[in-house]
Amino acid sequence: MEALFDLRNVRKVYRMGEERIVALEDISITFEKGKIYCLLGTSGSGKSTLLNMLAGLEKPTKGSIIFMGKPLEKLNEKQLALYRQRYVGFVFQSYNLLPTLTALENVTLPLTFRKIKKRERVKRARVMLKAVGLGNRARHKPSELSGGQQQRVSIARAFINNPQVVFADEPTGNLDTRTTFEMMDLIIGIARERQQTLVIVTHDTEIAQYADQVIHIRDGSIESITERKAIMNQSEIGNEDENKNATDGGNGNEETIV
Ligand code: ADP
Ligand code: MG
Repeated sequence: MEALFDLRNVRKVYRMGEERIVALEDISITFEKGKIYCLLGTSGSGKSTLLNMLAGLEKPTKGSIIFMGKPLEKLNEKQLALYRQRYVGFVFQSYNLLPTLTALENVTLPLTFRKIKKRERVKRARVMLKAVGLGNRARHKPSELSGGQQQRVSIARAFINNPQVVFADEPTGNLDTRTTFEMMDLIIGIARERQQTLVIVTHDTEIAQYADQVIHIRDGSIESITERKAIMNQSEIGNEDENKNATDGGNGNEETIV
């Protein structure tokens, strides 16, 4: 498989006055194209710091973050902004929709930076809104939508650009249990259908079940990596025993590789 991100000895230290906080210790890992990753760890373990560095929002103190062969830490602010516009989609815990815009306008937003005609932008946004089950809410403002619906709008916005990678930082943190699973099914479904790389940050082990690879983060270091064969692939093989294992929820299809 092709590498999307290659992290080499990435270290991140924050300075708070006299104090130095080591948020990431010495991270070396590869993210492959088309895979679904979960960064799993307790609060303060460094998950968001790692995600923000992949997203070009923060620079490492040491080490290199190579995106499709290019080191991100060498880009200037303008280049980083372009990198985010072209290659990255975001889903936030707090949705981050613009309150004065309609659902449709929020979804078209990432396309306005590109040279795409308004008609085409609106057409694509309508398709995306339909895909997230909000075809009949296009003209609603965020305040006229439930939390779950707002997160659906933000998922539509994240994917509309066909980005290389979608980052989701605690995407279900503000949602109830039922809506959480609906949202996970939705985001995973879209990512799988488009063979989209997805990196989800969570502290919730149940959400981690959705990923192909779970990266366990502890005190700024990678503690272990758990690889899971996609259940979809197993049903394609058509081996009944394997399918049984896949739905048992047992550890039969898990393998620790680090
Ligand atoms: P997580 O997302 O796993 O909860 P974070 O990546 O947000 O953890 O934080 C990792 C550590 O770095 C924490 O100890 C946090 O307090 C610290 N940290 C994060 N961002 C900053 C910042 N901008 N300035 C100083 N310290 C920070
Ligand atoms: Mg965080």
